[in-house]
Amino acid sequence: MIKFNIPPCIGKESEYIAQAIESHKICGDGAFTKKCNEWIEEHTHTAKALLTTSCTHATEMAALLSDIRPGDEVIMPSYTFVSTANAFVLNGAAIVFVDIRPDTMNINEELIEAAVTPQTRAIVPVHYAGVSCEMDKIMEIAKRHDLTVIEDAAQGVMSEYKGRPLGTIGDFGCFSFHETKNYSMGEGGCLLIRDKEMIEKAEIIREKGTNRSKFFRGEIDKYTWVSAGSSYLPSELNAAYLYAQLEQAQKIYDDRMRSWNLYYELLSPLAGAGSLSLPAVPDGCKHNAHMFYIKAADLKERTALIQYLKEQEIFSVFHYIPLHTAPAGCQYGRFSGEDIYTTRESERLLRLPMYYGLTPEDVRFVCEKITQFYR
Ligand SMILES: *Cc1c(COP(=O)(O)O)cnc(C)c1O
Repeated sequence: MIKFNIPPCIGKESEYIAQAIESHKICGDGAFTKKCNEWIEEHTHTAKALLTTSCTHATEMAALLSDIRPGDEVIMPSYTFVSTANAFVLNGAAIVFVDIRPDTMNINEELIEAAVTPQTRAIVPVHYAGVSCEMDKIMEIAKRHDLTVIEDAAQGVMSEYKGRPLGTIGDFGCFSFHETKNYSMGEGGCLLIRDKEMIEKAEIIREKGTNRSKFFRGEIDKYTWVSAGSSYLPSELNAAYLYAQLEQAQKIYDDRMRSWNLYYELLSPLAGAGSLSLPAVPDGCKHNAHMFYIKAADLKERTALIQYLKEQEIFSVFHYIPLHTAPAGCQYGRFSGEDIYTTRESERLLRLPMYYGLTPEDVRFVCEKITQFYR
């Protein structure tokens, strides 16, 4: 049997969790959280990284920091996870969906400007499969219309756009460390803050609206409630698990990349024959092998392929149901322009097994079965 995902475990996770327990500090913002924040700051060169309980929560923090209010509009692709939209809907914003590019499944940067209205406050590019959106163009539009850019880089840890780490180009970036992502802590995420002026406000929102972070640093002698906020701190036990992974980030990256490249090589003949499509990585984008997907001809062929692979005990999955077609998407959002690719391409896409430790033999087996299916 070949599973779709196995959460990464690299070796030192149990040891670090034991250390956290022995230190008698298992709530948030202890030694391991600090180490994770510092690791992310060092490797992404962002002004501040704050570990959170999820990428969903990091996006909620970004929405609060961007002062999103009822009546505001936020532009994003419809082809994304629900959390991308929820964070803004919770603040009363309306979502304006823009079609994707069929090659990367990312928001089509050429269609963004037509979706801008006087109510538009933010653009949320989603770096699908860890392959960057066209950030130069997106930042240029944002600058011209004075919009905030919040990168959903849930899948983009260790990816780059023209040499810059994803999550650090917009005003805010959001990482996920869910068990299905490249680096994990079970449930968890991180908010990346580009501008120093936003750091204090972010620390307050993350600490229930109090200035406790300042108090712990000894900058004030008592802490108090200073604004609206919530609790976005993960436990030290989760941070300890993540730190073991971050220390070995390159090893995990290399292992996944080996699987990705082998899939690409072995499936290229089928793509050459026109049976299926393979993912595209535009010039200037360094991806992180977050996922390997193929595209079948249509929904019917994809359904048959999933079933065929399942019979060989190979587990493949599809996502997302376009948000503008979901009940909440209809209620809180609207599609700008025409849905040419979002629905059509989402119905073709199939994700193949991909995780740290997937063996070349298993990749070969999956590719052989896909080849047999098309024969
Ligand atoms: C996984 C994912 C999220 C949510 O991450 P959580 O850490 O589970 O909240 C958001 N957006 C995208 C694109 C994702 O892939």
